[in-house]
Amino acid sequence: MLTNLRARAAASARTVIDVADGVRIGDVELTVIAGPCSVEGPQMLLETARAVKGAGAVMLRGGAFKPRTSPYSFQGLGTEALELLVIARAATGLPVVTEVLDTRHVELVAAHADMLQIGARNMQNFALLAEVGCTRMPVLLKRGQSASVSELLFAAEHLMSRGNLNVVLCERGIRTFETATRNTLDVSAVPVLKAETHLPVIVDPSHAGGRAALVAPLALAAVAAGADGIIVEVHPDPAAAWSDGEQSLTLDGFEDLMRRLAPVARAVGRDAPWSTRSVAPARGAMPCSA
Ligand code: PEP
Ligand code: MN
Repeated sequence: MLTNLRARAAASARTVIDVADGVRIGDVELTVIAGPCSVEGPQMLLETARAVKGAGAVMLRGGAFKPRTSPYSFQGLGTEALELLVIARAATGLPVVTEVLDTRHVELVAAHADMLQIGARNMQNFALLAEVGCTRMPVLLKRGQSASVSELLFAAEHLMSRGNLNVVLCERGIRTFETATRNTLDVSAVPVLKAETHLPVIVDPSHAGGRAALVAPLALAAVAAGADGIIVEVHPDPAAAWSDGEQSLTLDGFEDLMRRLAPVARAVGRDAPWSTRSVAPARGAMPCSA
């Protein structure tokens, strides 16, 4: 039997994924997810969570189990990081997304997170897709570094065929001949995916560009191209980060990105609720009447 649960024709309208606590992905509001590449400890996590929430993020990211190219690089704090994410969620109200690397950890990660990330390196780990597909947890499925759009959609089908329809696709840059960037952001994948599937599509400009200076322009391009949201790496002190510091925005850098993102979101028919709230005066600003 041939089924195609992910296809545009399989649903009469675009799918909106309810993550938790009113956070929806694929609705008219642009969804911004932000946080550190890796959870390094309570202080940096809480500081980042509070800052990104203040700037308008509606979900917190943070790696507990890290897929690292070298076995000698920091592999994540594991269960301790999951517990810190739960504390950060309680302190800020931000639902949490974190990566699950291993079929043996699905239950553990699902018990702590609101959304499971399947990373680029695991997009075609079919055993992991099957295990996550047997949960009903929202899933952030990242495109593999060398995966075609069609392969990404088949990976989504692996999840959906097990009964988990709560899938969000994520374009995060692919390997090309170009070496000026860590990966090449495939902006075209956004409208292609939106045409081929009813699933929400978000973009990760951090792993695409690989450098902090590229994150804002790539994020703006992604939103202009129709992405339903972005996921961005943010760290209070990127130079000291245990992973992906080069591509992490500072807290101020993230606030600046959010300011620049709002008019672009509105220009393509998205709501940018963070920019309509009253904002505190910029640091150092003097009241006019003083
Ligand atoms: C990450 O989100 O930190 C990560 C490792 O992402 P990717 O799987 O896209 O490389
Ligand atoms: Mn990272």
